[in-house]
Amino acid sequence: TKQEKHQKIIELDDNLANKIAAGEVIERPASVVKELLENAIDAKSTQITVKIEESGLKSIEIIDNGEGIAHGEVALALKRHATSKIKDVDDLFRIRTLGFRGEALPSIASVSELTINTSVADNGDESGTLLVAKGGEIIQNSPAPKRIGTRIKVENLFYNTPARLKYIKSLQAELGHITDIINRLSLAHPEVAFTLINDGREMMKTAGTGDLKQALAGVYGISTAKKMIAISAQDLDFDVTGYVSLPELTRANRNYITVLLNGRYIKNFLINRAIVDGYGSKLMVGRFPIAVIDIKIDPFLADVNVHPTKQEVRISKERELMVLISKAISQALQPQTLIPDALENL
Ligand code: ADP
Ligand code: MG
Repeated sequence: TKQEKHQKIIELDDNLANKIAAGEVIERPASVVKELLENAIDAKSTQITVKIEESGLKSIEIIDNGEGIAHGEVALALKRHATSKIKDVDDLFRIRTLGFRGEALPSIASVSELTINTSVADNGDESGTLLVAKGGEIIQNSPAPKRIGTRIKVENLFYNTPARLKYIKSLQAELGHITDIINRLSLAHPEVAFTLINDGREMMKTAGTGDLKQALAGVYGISTAKKMIAISAQDLDFDVTGYVSLPELTRANRNYITVLLNGRYIKNFLINRAIVDGYGSKLMVGRFPIAVIDIKIDPFLADVNVHPTKQEVRISKERELMVLISKAISQALQPQTLIPDALENL
């Protein structure tokens, strides 16, 4: 539509709209890692390698062995609200994937130099794709040799948003954020083998066997994993499983508590409190357990469409869930439960 000179309201072009969305979704290098890992997991990858340089500010490369993107659809994946994960409003109320907003790739592309190398495994003679975009503009989109899965490289993040770049203060802190998100997603997806390589050095690796205790060993080390006990509780609405640390193994903050809901790492203060409550008087004041609580719920009862980063989730019957979690933990920590469990670990 033609927009008259005297007209005050104009429609922003796509690239500008994407930059605005990026302001919310892509806060720092770790947000890029989170979004790209979620995509790799949604694509059913079983092996995902993350390579970063200078804590992700110079480059972030994610290599997966998932389903890939068909040649004719790679450019579309960079459009806002373009997604393969939902089709209609009914799907919005039963989300089973980590992504669904179709915002990550266009947001990332608008504030970086992005290279996507991808192909689909079983699509006959169709080739793979090499797509390069800079600041959201596609500068190359050509056929490329076939490969297994997808390799996405994000370089010079925030090169065109100087204020955001300035806000990033320490490389050490950014590396911490990246490690944190990879740790949480590794615990959420023990079936995936994750590797993190920072400036050429391997920082962490999980086995990808599907066993949560082995994922815990990959993330926190074997001796920590050995001091964690299984919990399990079910009712009509929730299926809760996971591992919590013995009361002797504590930390000075809540950062070692991971709450997962249908494979998604979420931030939920009330559930954190329910976990600590489960320990009763067994924890010293100011000390917190290490815990992974994996909650399975009918997607219909959880609204993930609350915030662009999808880490905040509205859960129906949250109180019931809190009681279930507290009880499961206090039961698992009772001496009569603990002794056979500990013996089994010997
Ligand atoms: P969303 O994940 O919300 O759908 P994104 O912008 O993150 O939106 O990704 C857009 C689309 O690109 C996805 O729906 C998916 O079809 C495709 N895609 C992105 N990353 C990958 C990947 N690593 N493997 C396969 N497909 C991918
Ligand atoms: Mg996504």
